[in-house]
Amino acid sequence: MSDAYAPPMHDQMFVLETVLDAGRLFSLPAYRHAEMDAVRAVLEQGAKFATEVLAPLNRAGDETGSRLEDGRVLTPPGFREAYAQYAAGGWPGLDQPLDCGGHGLPLAVQVAFEEMVDGACIAFGMLPVMQRSCARLLARHADAATRALVLPKLVSGEWGATICMSEPLAGSDVARIRTKAEPRGDGTYAVSGTKIFISYGDQDLTGQIVHMVLARTPGAPPGTRGLSLFLVPKRRIEPGGGLGAPNGVRVSRIEHKMGLKASPTCVLDFEEAHGVRIGEEHGGLKAMFAMVNSMRLAVAVQGVGVAGRALGAASRYAAERPQGGPPERPPVPIIEHADVRRMLFTMRARTEGLRALILQTAFELDFAAALPDAEARAAALDLAEWLLPVCKACGSEAGFEVANLAIQVHGGHGYVSDAGVEQLARDSRVSSIYEGTNGIQALDLVTRKLMQDGGRRYERFVQRVRTDLERTIGIAQVEANHSVLREALARLEAATAALRKKMEPAPRDVEAGATPYLQLVGLVASGWMWLRMAAAADDASEFGRLKRATARFHAEHLMPAAATLERQALAGSAALDAVDSSLLSAL
Ligand SMILES: Cc1cc2nc3c(=O)[nH]c(=O)nc-3n(C[C@H](O)[C@H](O)[C@H](O)COP(=O)(O)OP(=O)(O)OC[C@H]3O[C@@H](n4cnc5c(N)ncnc54)[C@H](O)[C@@H]3O)c2cc1C
Repeated sequence: MSDAYAPPMHDQMFVLETVLDAGRLFSLPAYRHAEMDAVRAVLEQGAKFATEVLAPLNRAGDETGSRLEDGRVLTPPGFREAYAQYAAGGWPGLDQPLDCGGHGLPLAVQVAFEEMVDGACIAFGMLPVMQRSCARLLARHADAATRALVLPKLVSGEWGATICMSEPLAGSDVARIRTKAEPRGDGTYAVSGTKIFISYGDQDLTGQIVHMVLARTPGAPPGTRGLSLFLVPKRRIEPGGGLGAPNGVRVSRIEHKMGLKASPTCVLDFEEAHGVRIGEEHGGLKAMFAMVNSMRLAVAVQGVGVAGRALGAASRYAAERPQGGPPERPPVPIIEHADVRRMLFTMRARTEGLRALILQTAFELDFAAALPDAEARAAALDLAEWLLPVCKACGSEAGFEVANLAIQVHGGHGYVSDAGVEQLARDSRVSSIYEGTNGIQALDLVTRKLMQDGGRRYERFVQRVRTDLERTIGIAQVEANHSVLREALARLEAATAALRKKMEPAPRDVEAGATPYLQLVGLVASGWMWLRMAAAADDASEFGRLKRATARFHAEHLMPAAATLERQALAGSAALDAVDSSLLSAL
């Protein structure tokens, strides 16, 4: 494959403008300075940056990778220059508040831009994700002095950031974190311990890095209740904000990985490093979730970014590759074959459905921050919180599976590296693992989001789907989508009621069904988006015809999975526990 990347701007604008009606957002006081034409211009610039500056780095970054030399991480050739352009273009501040030097645009616009960055070069996109998410955390939880010092540097892109949670004995189970933070007596702390798998734990793109570290103060209670959050800079920060001596943070290795090779994944040793506490003592995990939630949405975006690129590559290849047809005639392009079309439509339906769902979720977060009415803000937040683990898990899975299908469409030419689609599969595989594995997302959805507060978040979601089903009754072009969505929603309602009943007497049955339950929610949510997209794509343009054809495919070929997922969600744990762990691991 060439380094060609075609950003999905047309589809993004269709979703933002026509399906979600972004005008509602721009009529709010918080976004009065923005308007659709300006957003279009920003995204056009973003598309140009992604195609011209980032896309050419993707393959070279994979081949060269980042490396550790004399204790310093060096990113692949071209990354420094691209990053300098990224910062100079003001991209780090796209959705950051105006009073911190940002552009104050909605998160939904940032998400659209971020998809293009990830589609062009996902390994590059990793650093800005942490920078932006850290800025969100500090805006909410840091004291005024820290905010004034650090936020503008993150928003301008002058400083980078990391999230330091994982340790050798603390992966999904963050309650086992051992890193210590001893008070120094002057309001600062000495942070000591080892963090592993830290993305961009060191790099040569920014002069400073702020590490956001979860650690324990002396005498802290065990478990997550004893975690506090610390900002530990790579270099000490002088009182006036200048950079001082190196802090006690050392990169002891970088990992050799399956993909994302240009994104350095570091082991960081903290040796009495100077840190300041962010938020309340023992309130660290709660504060960190401001960063984690922002990153979970970003991981969903990574999935769709990669999926979009894989779809483009496979569609172009299928139209050009001649193979098959009657031997007495010239071979036909493989795009003529039913099975290849099935793969291409599957890729398109999953990519565009999840793109719309992720933009919808970002929209709800924008509304949750900007609506004048408190009740309406709470309703928007409920829906966003419900959809967030679904976006993270389904978006990341779609990234890998669509890339995998792109390899299949390319045949043997996809398995060898020239076509570049195998890199997309390798790069996207980790998205299901980091920022909380997809299994943990499913448990969060079922045991917390569904069971807490009388299932309020779930009810908001179901209500919104029902409203759109009512609104679209009788629209001829959505008939197929309408009936399958109604049926899938009924299955989701039945599965939800059954799992709720099981929660008290048989929680292990609920855990056993968590992943298929999340996938069922994801299918209904995608079906909801396809219903609305089919209703909105009502013209005779090529875009409209392809959209309606894909909506129909989604209804007829993908939505039937609802029946299987419902059964799997309710299958219980008996078969899983039919043998004990020693036998399960013995042979
Ligand atoms: C490339 C890369 C970049 C990363 N970047 C960062 C970073 O910047 N900062 C950072 O802090 N970390 C980072 N991580 C770490 C990542 O967040 C962890 O790998 C992830 O949280 C899973 O932890 P683990 O690898 O220890 O797996 P484990 O927690 O050991 O999980 C292994 C399997 O067991 C399952 N499992 C575990 N516990 C349960 C349970 N209670 N119930 C059901 N199933 C369970 C999991 O779902 C998974 O399938 C990164 C990892 C990679 C590979």
